[in-house]
Amino acid sequence: MTARLLIVGPQGSGKGTQGVRIAEALSIPVVSTGDIFRANIKGGTELGLKVKAITDAGELVPDAVTSEIVRDRLSQDDAQAGFLLDGYPRNAAQVGHLDEFLAGRGEKLDAVILLDVPRAESLQRLTLRAEQEGRSDDTEEAIAKRLDIYESETAPIIDLYEDRGIVDRIDGVGSLDEITARIFAALEARGIARVSA
Ligand code: ADP
Repeated sequence: MTARLLIVGPQGSGKGTQGVRIAEALSIPVVSTGDIFRANIKGGTELGLKVKAITDAGELVPDAVTSEIVRDRLSQDDAQAGFLLDGYPRNAAQVGHLDEFLAGRGEKLDAVILLDVPRAESLQRLTLRAEQEGRSDDTEEAIAKRLDIYESETAPIIDLYEDRGIVDRIDGVGSLDEITARIFAALEARGIARVSA
């Protein structure tokens, strides 16, 4: 069984953590654009040098660059039986790029997991993460910028997916395990089940 999933939610919604849990249980890779950019910045690659200032400012990397990276990643062998996208698409142009790429392969997204967390709660979690992890884009300014972009550009793409009937809105407030259980209940209702060990 294949599962082509997208997890979306505001910064600090816990989508990274939940994404890893879901992907592991379904035996599919997580494709996180933020992780790919951070790995390239750390490794000092050409791409890393190109995107460092952009990500530090909390701005979006150009769509063409991001979409090409995702296409390459989704073309690898381990993503053929499914994947969980985290951080992409995050605007309407990227939705178009992804649709086109998947349609070319006769594929489409099966479900969009929307983690619902109030802005006050995300801000609180992000401030804590900034203290604990010291990510270079977790400055007050970059956080505010990212949340603004989420609200103006990313939240609207959810409507596009709502129209396709593939959005599962999950209450993202609670314990990690409770939230994971809510996500699995929603996926199972779509016939997407854990791979038994
Ligand atoms: P967060 O969800 O906390 O904003 P991410 O790890 O998803 O963090 O992304 C970190 C940064 O990487 C973003 O602020 C942006 O600069 C860049 N980035 C990640 N995904 C995308 C994307 N889909 N399009 C453009 N830029 C992106």
